[in-house]
Order: sequence, then structure tokens, then C-alpha cells
Amino acid sequence: MADDRVADCLFCRIVAGEIPSTKVHEDDLVLAIRDIAPRAPTHILVMPRRHVASAADLTAGDGDLLGRIFVTAAEIARSEGIAERGYRVVTNVGTWGGQSVDHLHFHLMGGRAFEWPPG
Ligand code: AMP
Repeated sequence: MADDRVADCLFCRIVAGEIPSTKVHEDDLVLAIRDIAPRAPTHILVMPRRHVASAADLTAGDGDLLGRIFVTAAEIARSEGIAERGYRVVTNVGTWGGQSVDHLHFHLMGGRAFEWPPG
């Protein structure tokens, strides 16, 4: 097993192609897939290929990765037709943050208005 993946991590298995997903974007650093239980008309997960448990585990060396993630999210938002009216990019951290999969991912959500603060 490569050093950049973790055994029994759902999203590592999706990155490896062991579990099917609906891919929206894939490059050397990032994978974007449609959320299996969408909470908005457009609900896409943008994640690093490499296993990072959450945003709390990022380091100063992850600047290129984060740049790629946010540029990818913006490109997908444009291609999905949600950029003009606006959208949300959010990541959950830990139990109280609402994180259910311990592999860093950013929810790209659009196609409806969102409230603030979230529940
Ligand atoms: P979070 O709760 O912030 O960790 O987000 C995890 C997200 O992963 C949820 O929105 C789930 O619906 C989504 N999810 C779980 N399993 C899958 C899967 N197999 N394919 C795509 N999305 C998934």
C-alpha cells in the first residue's frame, strides 16, 4: 500500500478506484466526485488524492494542494452553471464540525440559496 493512502479509508478507496464514484474532475493532486446523498442541486466533493484526515491536519507545505483544490472548485462551479448566482465551499472538521468521512474534502454546493450560519 502506498504511503499516501490509509487502509479502510472510504475516500482513499474511491481515489484508488476500488469503490465506484461519479467523477467530475481528476488530476495528479485532486479528485472531485458527486456526493452520493446530495443536499443541494449541485453537491460535489473536492478532495486531495493523498490522505489528509481533515483541514486540521494541513501543514504549511500544503499550499499548492489547497490552491489546486480551490481553483478546481471554481472551475467546476463555472462548468456546473452555479458560479453566477453564487455557491458554498465548506469543509467540516471533527465530530462537532459534522465530519463523517475522515479524509479531507470540500463540499461544493450550489443551485439554491443557503442560510448563514449553517445549522
Ligand atoms: P462530511 O460529513 O462533511 O464528512 O461529508 C461526507 C460526505 O460524503 C457526505 O456528504 C456523504 O453524503 C458523502 N459520501 C459518503 N459516502 C460517499 C460515497 N461513496 N460517494 C460519494 N459521496 C459519499
